[in-house]
Amino acid sequence: MRLIDSHCHLQAERFEADRDEVLVVARDAGIERLLVPGWNAWSSDAALELVDRHPWLDAAVGVHPHDAAKVTDTEWARIVALGADPRVAAIGETGLDYDRMFSPISDQHANLRRNLALALETGKPAILHVRSPAGRHDAQEALLGELRGAGFGGPASVGSFGDRPPAVLHSYSGPVGFARAALDLGLAISISGLAFRTGEEPTAQVAALVPAQRLLLETDSPFLSPPGGPRGRNAPEWVRITAAWVAERRGIAPEDAEAAAGFGEGLVAAYDQTFRRGRRSGSTYPSG
Ligand SMILES: [Zn+2]
Repeated sequence: MRLIDSHCHLQAERFEADRDEVLVVARDAGIERLLVPGWNAWSSDAALELVDRHPWLDAAVGVHPHDAAKVTDTEWARIVALGADPRVAAIGETGLDYDRMFSPISDQHANLRRNLALALETGKPAILHVRSPAGRHDAQEALLGELRGAGFGGPASVGSFGDRPPAVLHSYSGPVGFARAALDLGLAISISGLAFRTGEEPTAQVAALVPAQRLLLETDSPFLSPPGGPRGRNAPEWVRITAAWVAERRGIAPEDAEAAAGFGEGLVAAYDQTFRRGRRSGSTYPSG
């Protein structure tokens, strides 16, 4: 089955020793598309360096909510410059994290706003992280407010994105209603191994309801290894566990090879449509 990993922090230190091997294993496992998001200026630059060395990868540049209070003006200027680079596919990851709170909420909102503005300005979709403390979904509500406030789902985002998703909810977390509201704004939804954790049960229903052209999968490596994957560092090939689970939620029986193949085709098509694969200069399709 054709597979994608729409979110993998391959530039992270935990891949330092064997990054190239990890990519070979990923390709052998059927991963055809892999997006490397940044979380600050350094990791955004590092994502682009990886794309230069491995043209079948895609890069995103932006500032994560955890880093919101840490980023300097010079570093933000670097992100803005990189955002305009034709090799860059998306802006992120950014978002809101009311659970771990490594940056104060006001800084997270200011950071999110400028990342969203950069997405609208460049016509590159925002990749959004959103997490609330257990049993709550105030960060999800606040994120919807920020998206609407910035013009997502309205004429501004139609002007920048046409019929492509203006943003991706990465590593989906939240109630079913949040997914419906995000889909109403035109967003795509990406599902990771987080779906298997206690408290994330609504994602099973979300996996079934997202239209195929707006459904993405990811590992969020080196984090969020799914059950059956490694105990330590996650890697792109393990997206197949999440893929099998999502396919089943969508009524595809594991023994139905034709339906599974169609599901894989859909994943690649949704990815290409969201990130304009093949239409940016410098991006080439993998061979073989
Ligand atoms: Zn991430």
